[in-house]
Amino acid sequence: MSEANTRETSPWQPSACILCECNCGIEIQLGGEGDRRLTRVRGDKAHPASEGYACEKPSRLDFYQNDPERLTKPLRRRADGTFEEIEWETAIREVAERFLAIREEHGGEAIFYYGGGGQGNHLPGAYSTSLRSTLGSRYRSNALAQEKTGEAWSQQKC
Ligand code: SF4
Repeated sequence: MSEANTRETSPWQPSACILCECNCGIEIQLGGEGDRRLTRVRGDKAHPASEGYACEKPSRLDFYQNDPERLTKPLRRRADGTFEEIEWETAIREVAERFLAIREEHGGEAIFYYGGGGQGNHLPGAYSTSLRSTLGSRYRSNALAQEKTGEAWSQQKC
């Protein structure tokens, strides 16, 4: 029996898988009070869209969330090619400064937006319109233009 099966677990709790744009409903069990380990994951039959379906990927959600090598802070590349952790406020300020400098020198059309598609990068799509408008960015793409092209056509998601 695995360690996960011998530990105390929480009741099943509703959540959603964020590993692709379908956002299937899932139910999860945590490893007990204050424990962030996801010990069990299953499809949520009460979810109105996915109706209990879940592919194999959310069974690895605990690995993605709790892997000790998971990045939890922005990394800034040093001149020698190595990376250093920096605070979010620093990263956001520096990225904003770089964007504004590009817009100032080359115009917003020089800034290409990639995001807002599936495969876990769709959440920023909610903010992309205002960001692109502020920057004057004109060109964009996302994962639907690559491995999801067939799905996008068949489901008219473009
Ligand atoms: S990765 Fe699988 S379970 Fe997760 S949202 Fe996509 S299809 Fe659903």
